[in-house]
Amino acid sequence: MSSVEKHQFQAEIQQLLDIVIHSLYTDKEIFVRELISNAADACEKLRFLQTSGQLTGQSDLPLGITVTTDDTAQTVTIVDTGVGMTHDELVQNLGTIAHSGSKAFLKQLAQRKEGGGDTKADATLIGQFGVGFYSAFMVAREVKVWTRSCQPDQPGWCWTSEGSGSYEIEQVEEQPRGTKVVVYLKPEEKDYAQAFRVEGLIKRYSNFVSFPISLNGAALNTVRAIWSRNKNEIKEEEYEEFYRYIGHDSEKPLMKLHFTADAPLAIQALLFVPPRNFEEVGMARGDMEVHLYCKRVLIQSKAEGLFPEWLRFLKGVVDSEDLPLNISRETMQDSTLMQKLNKVLSSRFIKFLEEQSEKNPETYDKFHEQFSRFLKEGIVTDFTHREALAKLIRYETSALEKGKTTSLADYVKRMGPDQKEIYFILAPNRDSAESSPYYEGMRAQKLEVLFFSDPWDEFVMDHLREFEGKALKSAEKAEIKIDEPQSASEEKLEAGDAEELAKWLKASLGEKVSEVRVSKRLVESPVLVVDSDRFMTSSMRRILKSMNKEPQQAKYDLEINPNHVVVARLNRVRQENQVLAGKVAEQLLDNARAAAGLMEDPRSMVQRMNELLADVMGPKS
Ligand code: ADP
Ligand code: MG
Repeated sequence: MSSVEKHQFQAEIQQLLDIVIHSLYTDKEIFVRELISNAADACEKLRFLQTSGQLTGQSDLPLGITVTTDDTAQTVTIVDTGVGMTHDELVQNLGTIAHSGSKAFLKQLAQRKEGGGDTKADATLIGQFGVGFYSAFMVAREVKVWTRSCQPDQPGWCWTSEGSGSYEIEQVEEQPRGTKVVVYLKPEEKDYAQAFRVEGLIKRYSNFVSFPISLNGAALNTVRAIWSRNKNEIKEEEYEEFYRYIGHDSEKPLMKLHFTADAPLAIQALLFVPPRNFEEVGMARGDMEVHLYCKRVLIQSKAEGLFPEWLRFLKGVVDSEDLPLNISRETMQDSTLMQKLNKVLSSRFIKFLEEQSEKNPETYDKFHEQFSRFLKEGIVTDFTHREALAKLIRYETSALEKGKTTSLADYVKRMGPDQKEIYFILAPNRDSAESSPYYEGMRAQKLEVLFFSDPWDEFVMDHLREFEGKALKSAEKAEIKIDEPQSASEEKLEAGDAEELAKWLKASLGEKVSEVRVSKRLVESPVLVVDSDRFMTSSMRRILKSMNKEPQQAKYDLEINPNHVVVARLNRVRQENQVLAGKVAEQLLDNARAAAGLMEDPRSMVQRMNELLADVMGPKS
């Protein structure tokens, strides 16, 4: 009795196979991932039947996947102890177009053909869809599938095909429950019969499959996919160990977020913030190391586009059942699915940071110390999250002691009823901020000022513009007025005299200043400069300079303090000694520029200083 049955592939399957076999598809290696995924699915199905009571017994054969390579026979064999297939299931599953990936692929292909598309592009199209089992034919001259269904009293079967037109099915005796797939490699693909090659592929793609995988007798996947487990059952040490594994780090993570979502996408994610900012310690701009999985099978490592750029310090895993398994790198990056994931994940992470800042302020402070630059980058580059990110940044402030920081929200809460703007001042450190001429008016008026030490903070504020409806304003540009100007000395100028002096200064300094005016905000300093450009501050000017991008020669407005002894005396001296007064005027301007950090070349100032010193001491009498 000849029990060999010959079958023709369904026309669509043959079409699919022709493309698979003849295309120059570059990711041939994924056949290992596909076959292991099928084996894992089969085990999963069996476990389900057992736990749901639809299948009794059969627990003597433990669930697992055994892979063997034979480089003499040039074969790769994948055995599982899963559900197996009956005769009809073999025909149905491996001979007709049953599963979604292939179906979608063929649909797209048909559409492309209608539109007159070329067949060469078919190869790239394959990468976008799952071809699952058939991917074996990219490397195989022949594939044999031995299988026996878990259903009672089913015989074993052997399915054989070369992928061209037909397949054969034959009944076999000694086949245990489950499936054995043997891939007979084409001569030019014989490398896949090397154990190290297959080991690398399993570790890369299938390391977190939830059934034990062995290769030539050795256990491979020892690290468990903890992200898909219930949070309550996971110990802290397990998280740490997992972080060290995927983060290639020897330390503990600073923060972790483990969450699941069902809508709008099914997501399981485990994200870590490393203990240090690696970019800061002199390393190159990092790659984001979050890997994308679909049901514990790797889709893309370091999945680009999964998070916005500014979250590139994250490490971890995102697993979504909603992902098509075989989607290719190229289409992945700009797919709408990816954008959706990006949105959900980044919003969730921002929310997490917000929670942490309240629940674990100490840890949050550490985070902020290391990673605030990234948050600020987000404010500048990521419009979607700008407002949410603004809540996460912290600054030192005149309202709190040195070393303590505030959020913008808390600043706003402290604002008096008349205050309309949020003030900040940029200085190398707190001491110099507090002694800055721009700060003294603020202090006199008891206005809170944020202290910035990072020049980029001004750019960040420039993008943010406002917070909770309050404009963010550099103290340099603030139009404040002190109520009761207290004079440091008895000598001061009446309003009229001060105006006269301002006029004289403008005439004397000429093109070096665009305007000289009587200040309403100075207390201790005689003068200060303000950039004439309404939007430019001194530090922005410095940054532009350092980038060789200064728009045009800077022009400054000079403000004079009528209650300052130097200013008062200058008004007298200008009438007595024009030459000396001229020198003092120039020196005052330079002093103001130095206080603003705008003094680039002090040489001419030093020379003038020397002349003034000589003047002070007078000639030999
Ligand atoms: P998919 O896995 O996306 O369904 P495949 O082409 O990978 O598509 O597999 C087609 C079908 O063949 C599977 O749905 C499954 O029913 C069956 N199959 C493949 N491999 C196995 C296996 N090892 N054990 C049991 N059934 C299998
Ligand atoms: Mg599959």
